[in-house]
Amino acid sequence: MTLRLANLKGRAQFIVGDIASPRAIDVATASNNSLSADPMQCFAHWDTLKKLAATLDASTGAPVAIADLSCPVPNPRQMFAVGLNYRKHAAEMGSPLPPLPLVFAKFQSSLNTPTGNIEILSDTVDYESELVIIVGKGGRHIDEAAAWDHVAGLCAGQDVSDRGLQYMGTPPQFSLGKSRVGYSPIGPWVTDMSNNDKRDNLQLGCTVNGEQRQDTHTSDMIFGIAHIVAYMSTIVELFPGDVIYTGSPFGVGHGRKPQVYLKPGDVVVTTLEGVGTITNRCI
Ligand code: ZN
Repeated sequence: MTLRLANLKGRAQFIVGDIASPRAIDVATASNNSLSADPMQCFAHWDTLKKLAATLDASTGAPVAIADLSCPVPNPRQMFAVGLNYRKHAAEMGSPLPPLPLVFAKFQSSLNTPTGNIEILSDTVDYESELVIIVGKGGRHIDEAAAWDHVAGLCAGQDVSDRGLQYMGTPPQFSLGKSRVGYSPIGPWVTDMSNNDKRDNLQLGCTVNGEQRQDTHTSDMIFGIAHIVAYMSTIVELFPGDVIYTGSPFGVGHGRKPQVYLKPGDVVVTTLEGVGTITNRCI
């Protein structure tokens, strides 16, 4: 079965069965402790996990609630994001198309659980639904044709953005504007896509209080997943468990007329096809 890796109370878990009613099998227990219980140790051993996942009996999993899951990648060595990676989104932000991936950092202290709250710390907090890459095998100078072999899997994510902070100066400061506490929820688990022939064309979007705000396909990205991994590895070394946000599509609150921002009580539901859904309440 497809390898899905979650984090339950700090222990790595295989997610098995129907993802609408997920079940969990402890990775360390299932491997007779040959694999670590630490989720961050799993990404360097992804091929071993994949083989083990194929042998699991879903009926032996324990029912698990997504609300009980922690961040599936709790302590990445590096965390990146690509800005303005969808044409219609660049237009709604009034920005020209970037000639090469526009990469900034999201700091890891902003990571959040799949159902964690988003603290509204200003009146300009915005949502950005995104496909998130989790690196498996790291390296430098990764060939684009082999780049998917370096991807452990994908998460659904929100690149929650404080637009006031982001655009306070010239040029803008993306990294801090998108790194407030809890502004990087990802999950609900890392899904291996090696056998998914739609992995470059997945439906991605989010609702706010049930209203569809973003709805696109990831094939609309200007720079696709393999290109982003290959390009970044020409500059920085990638490590197992690194997190790469890949940009948000059209439909953010900042681009609407009139602009509309998140407020306490709002519920943001983000779904990436084949991966799953995260649900984050604004407080
Ligand atoms: Zn973004």
